[in-house]
Amino acid sequence: SKQRGRHGYTLFNQELRRDQADQLALEAELRHALTNDYELVPYYQAIVDSQTGRLAGFETLVRWHHPQRGMISPSVFMPMAEESGLILKLDRYMIERACAQLAAWYAEGQLSNEVCLHINLSSTHFHDRSLLDWLLPMLGQYGLPAGTLHLEVTESALIDVPELAISVMKQLKEQGVCLALDDFGTGYSALSYLHRYQFDVLKIDQAFVREVHCQEESVAIVRAILALAAALGLEVVAEGVETEVQVRALRELGCTRLQGYFFARPAPAEMLDWDRLHGRDR
Ligand code: C2E
Ligand code: CA
Ligand code: CA
Ligand code: CA
Repeated sequence: SKQRGRHGYTLFNQELRRDQADQLALEAELRHALTNDYELVPYYQAIVDSQTGRLAGFETLVRWHHPQRGMISPSVFMPMAEESGLILKLDRYMIERACAQLAAWYAEGQLSNEVCLHINLSSTHFHDRSLLDWLLPMLGQYGLPAGTLHLEVTESALIDVPELAISVMKQLKEQGVCLALDDFGTGYSALSYLHRYQFDVLKIDQAFVREVHCQEESVAIVRAILALAAALGLEVVAEGVETEVQVRALRELGCTRLQGYFFARPAPAEMLDWDRLHGRDR
């Protein structure tokens, strides 16, 4: 049953995290997974325009379909991927797969208006500047404008390496790539970041969205974030939107982009429900 499946998945994840030897095995297995094209699968989650309900973009989230262990959550293997440096290859793999997929959707006529592609980027890329060498040529290869790509970074990623991050992000911006600050409000939230790093988009963390319809503090925080974003000319995406009540509250507060299970769960390309994404009746 669904219940048992979810429970099993959680228990397995907790066990994995505890076992050191297993971490090493997992690292070797991730290295291997990066050499084939079926274990690591990009899942796509819609981002919609809050007023029209129109599809505005997708966030790409990695899923590991392990041949023996089954599905492994990113929260389990991301720390290992970061520590081992494999995250550099993993992120590149995800960006390339997603760009190829987006180009294919345009070619097939699934997408008519321009949508953006949100990709999570580890702070490791700020130490290793090679991202700057391959990213733009790759976008060109698929005929995608640089502005299509919205790279999502977290505040913690910036605290580690402020100077390196500034220099890499500045160059990305110069080339036209958009930058999004992920999980906004959960970290130190130094407002100076918004200015220094030239972000284009803020993503309001699920923690605030969850209570936006009932808790006064959450409403106040979301309202403050939206006012700040408006003053700085930033787009705001609210993530983790699960209910219609939250949708209504966020829309009334003036949040322009929404993302969450209410609209669509992350799904592999072949499982996307295009009729639903385009708001067509079936
Ligand atoms: P994130 O970037 O903050 O992604 C949002 C997480 O919330 C995702 O978890 C997503 O599946 C989940 N989510 C989306 N809508 C809802 C909702 O309505 N309700 C709830 N409860 N959850 C929702 P996921 O896919 O497990 O990813 C976890 C984290 O792993 C991500 O957090 C991101 O930091 C990281 N990650 C995932 N894929 C990649 C990747 O390709 N590269 C890098 N560097 N990090 C990734
Ligand atoms: Ca994200
Ligand atoms: Ca987030
Ligand atoms: Ca997060």
